[in-house]
Amino acid sequence: MKIHVLQCGSIRVDPTVPFGKRLDLIEAAKQLTAADKNRITLPVFTYLIEHPQGLILVDTGWCREISPDGVYDPKAAAAVLPSQMAALFHPFVPKGMAIHEQLAGMGIGPEDLDYVLLTHLDVDHVAGLRHVSKAKHIVLPEYEYYWSCRTVYKIRQPQELWIQYPMERPYYRGSSLGPNHWVIDLFGDESIQLVNVPGHTEGQAAIVIRNGGRFVLLTADAAFSPRNWQENIVPGFGFARDFQRKSLRWIADMAADPGCAAVLCSHDPEVKPGIITL
Ligand SMILES: [Zn+2]
Repeated sequence: MKIHVLQCGSIRVDPTVPFGKRLDLIEAAKQLTAADKNRITLPVFTYLIEHPQGLILVDTGWCREISPDGVYDPKAAAAVLPSQMAALFHPFVPKGMAIHEQLAGMGIGPEDLDYVLLTHLDVDHVAGLRHVSKAKHIVLPEYEYYWSCRTVYKIRQPQELWIQYPMERPYYRGSSLGPNHWVIDLFGDESIQLVNVPGHTEGQAAIVIRNGGRFVLLTADAAFSPRNWQENIVPGFGFARDFQRKSLRWIADMAADPGCAAVLCSHDPEVKPGIITL
């Protein structure tokens, strides 16, 4: 199997997002108004897996409309996102880096994708869904959908970015894997497993890609950098810190497993785009 690590834009955020304090209302207000010079740039990664069952895309990054000229455009960003989300993230996607643009460069059209897996419904993971909505299957854990539709997540995860696309929403099932022992085994052979890693959102999935005794773990936003699990620093952006800690402990165990080929976080600036062969 090959895993293409694709960067589909960036965010410019307050440094406390990956390593900081809980995002309460006061902290959020501070982060929304932070001056650009005080922000750090973090990548937004997606992953294309060449799997025997077909092409599988994990997450979708930013859409082109958010950043028509490839730079941060406050007006364009606020036309796609709620204005407070645009102010929080300062999103941009350089020309040629939106997901459909990168796929086209590889000779892949959206309809050639067999699966799009969404780890969770935060805007930086689903804004690009519009570009790949013709994929044969779009898969989202039911638990993520359930919470997003019924709670405060409605503000954080605006439905207009994703609700109109036909999604399959399987339930997590009991498993020996994961901090919550909840897994969606996509093909029933453990080669692609969506593993519930709660805390950043309740329903979020990490992805375990397995071939024989080796595996790659995509943490989504359960961790922003290896520092999170190595030094036990809970990312600032999340709702349930106890759950975040539990998910980090599981990631640390997985990273220490001799079969672990790589652990990749969606916003780790140390990760570089490229291909991992598994
Ligand atoms: Zn994210």
